[in-house]
Amino acid sequence: MLTPVLQTLLILQDRDVRRRALEAQLRGVPGEIAGVEQKIAGEKAAIDAAKTELKELETKKKLLETEIGVAEDKLGKYRTQQSQVRKNDEYQALGHEIETTEAAVGALEEQELAVMYAIDEAKKKFAAAEAELKANISGHEAKIRTLREREGNLAKELEAAQAEVASARAPVGELRLKVYDRVALRNMPAVVPVQGGKCGGCHLKVSSEVESAARAKNTDGTAALATCDQCGRIVYWES
Ligand SMILES: [Zn+2]
Repeated sequence: MLTPVLQTLLILQDRDVRRRALEAQLRGVPGEIAGVEQKIAGEKAAIDAAKTELKELETKKKLLETEIGVAEDKLGKYRTQQSQVRKNDEYQALGHEIETTEAAVGALEEQELAVMYAIDEAKKKFAAAEAELKANISGHEAKIRTLREREGNLAKELEAAQAEVASARAPVGELRLKVYDRVALRNMPAVVPVQGGKCGGCHLKVSSEVESAARAKNTDGTAALATCDQCGRIVYWES
């Protein structure tokens, strides 16, 4: 039979363990929410990148169209001039200009074609990125809602657990609470049985003084708590 003092300490420890577990779960929730939000942000960023790429390509296409227009105007003028000149060398010089400009237009049109292919690809990329976000967003949002719900439930459970801890602390007594709190800060469980002469926390052999203190049945609960010589945990004898 455990002494009443140890019974109160073990009840306190049980409730403390539960409180700590709830605290740890609660601490993890914001990180999980942030992880989902990051996924959403990543998918949105892919859409933005595709959109920017598309815009840049469209601007490039417009510039090329302007350049082609300018070159074609020039070609038209050269051709008119050529039909009006009488001298052979002037006619040939204009013919040379026309050839050069035609080649330039050809090169610009090739560039335009390449840009148009790139625009097609960028549009596909944009549509794929948008479809991915659309397909995932309701799942992401549902996950966040579930996590927020869990956070709320955990907070309520924690509140109840804290109240249970408080009520378990009341009968322990101030001095013993001090010992318990000091140990619990570093080592949980803080209250462990002695088994085979060894501390149930650090598994090292306890001294014979500690063992006999743990064995002592001070039913009035006035004696100091027995603590492990090695790790400082409160030890008790389990018969
Ligand atoms: Zn120990």
